[in-house]
Amino acid sequence: KEKTAFSLNELIEEVLIFLYPSILDGKVKIQKNLEEDINLFGYADEIRQVLINIVFNAIDVLNPNTKHPLIDIKSYTTDNKWIKLEIANNGPMIPEHLVQSIFEPFVTTKKLGTGLGLFVCREIIEKHKGRLACETQADLTVFTITLPIADKK
Ligand code: ADP
Ligand code: MG
Repeated sequence: KEKTAFSLNELIEEVLIFLYPSILDGKVKIQKNLEEDINLFGYADEIRQVLINIVFNAIDVLNPNTKHPLIDIKSYTTDNKWIKLEIANNGPMIPEHLVQSIFEPFVTTKKLGTGLGLFVCREIIEKHKGRLACETQADLTVFTITLPIADKK
């Protein structure tokens, strides 16, 4: 497998189209504020997997527990060097006792969950010299992916 340069915004669109049936099913509103497109460098299929897991976790938690389910996707650059992608949702918060451990393998609150999603996501992002973090902001759960910009488009 070869590393390549690939567009982040195109990848995001692809993932949203792929998850569209579940988005519609859950009546989830998608709000998007994306920075001008940049290229990442590495394995597009792996970064796609990360986006799918994080957005799908959000759909999962929203469905059917939230009155006005919303996923907010935002990106911005810092220091002209990093792209930050924030994926937030307004569903039920991560239980207090799990906040510290959701990135550990086999931690799941789902009947049929593997608990491997976020563990693998973090491995992939770190392999691409980035960072993956989770925080809460008011009533939002926010996952932030930080990755080095390969080049501007
Ligand atoms: P899985 O999806 O198989 O449970 P993950 O590693 O993807 O495994 O997620 C681990 C756990 O983290 C989930 O079971 C859930 O409890 C919690 N979690 C992940 N994303 C969110 C989110 N957006 N909102 C609330 N809880 C979340
Ligand atoms: Mg998951």
